[in-house]
Amino acid sequence: MEKKRLGLYVHIPFCKRKCYYCDFVSYDNCINREDEYIESLLLEIEKRANKEKYFVDTIYFGGGTPSIIKPENIKKVLDKIYESFDVLNNAEITLEANPGTVNKEKLEKYLNYGINRLSIGLQSTNNDVLKLVGRIHTYEEFLDAYNSALEVGFNNINVDLMLALPSQSIEILNDSLEKVIALNPKHISLYSLILEEGTPLYNKVMNKELSLPDEETERKMYWTTKKLLEENGYIHYEISNFAKEGFYSNHNTNCWKQEEYMGFGAAAHSFIDNKRFSNSENLNEYIKGNKTTLNEELNQEDLEKEHIMLSLRMIKGLDINDFNLKFNTNFEEKYKDIIQKLKEENLVEIDNGRFHLSDKGLDYANVVFEEFI
Ligand code: SF4
Repeated sequence: MEKKRLGLYVHIPFCKRKCYYCDFVSYDNCINREDEYIESLLLEIEKRANKEKYFVDTIYFGGGTPSIIKPENIKKVLDKIYESFDVLNNAEITLEANPGTVNKEKLEKYLNYGINRLSIGLQSTNNDVLKLVGRIHTYEEFLDAYNSALEVGFNNINVDLMLALPSQSIEILNDSLEKVIALNPKHISLYSLILEEGTPLYNKVMNKELSLPDEETERKMYWTTKKLLEENGYIHYEISNFAKEGFYSNHNTNCWKQEEYMGFGAAAHSFIDNKRFSNSENLNEYIKGNKTTLNEELNQEDLEKEHIMLSLRMIKGLDINDFNLKFNTNFEEKYKDIIQKLKEENLVEIDNGRFHLSDKGLDYANVVFEEFI
């Protein structure tokens, strides 16, 4: 049997302190449970091991803050993965790191363990903005982390920035972009802040203690970013992601291509054999052994629609021929009413056999996605 490709995700749900906007599954008061958690992770990986069916070409440590735990624990997890899966020699292995939690020694260890891509959370270079959203670090600490990573030999680094943060003006954003571009990272992600109910930031905004840029400014920020990054040699390859040629994130790209992935750890999700699984978000339950639950099995219709939405996240969009072959259908015929409607609204285009968002569609991507739900 020919082996299938698989991406692996490992969730490290610990943070030094919760950022005020964050609703990810991460805990700032449980780091004393790190070793127990790692033992459970190792058991889970062993239980789901599969060398026969898959080869692994991407591994992604996300969080939370993976760089907060002892590097030796990252090594234990990687060793267990190598023991349990057929990992390709040139696999992309990413670790998310936060400034203020890494130093040269730690970074050197990561590189020696085989981690070859770092994703550093910066969000803004303006220290006042960083403080307002509860980040634990300053811009200067980010610079330390970034330069140390370069010095130890990382050459594939992503920098995360955010748009529409409190007190962030277009000028402040421009300043962040210019500073980051000058560092020449291979990849830059830019997500707009989503105000999540229940977070401290949500309460502050509701109580009018803080205000956020309005929607029009947020869109201006997006287009300013796109222009500046493209002028500086970054390819806009996904709604929120930019990279130098040859440095797209393989892990994320595979997810957007609806390929299979297996997630380990609390709150981790998996997509295997057209089925979605998830692990308990609760740290205690996860550690006790409540691992993977089947959430849903996608039928042909679900898979097609999800495939369309994921493909539309990528700037190149959906390859109509590939879609027709994969689902044994005729995309343009089957979805002709929706396509027609979206085309009339100038939200999508079809060219060179690809169905993709137009410039206007980038601003109204959710409207387009809803048509396929
Ligand atoms: S570092 Fe990331 S995961 Fe942790 S609290 Fe901040 S945004 Fe959330």
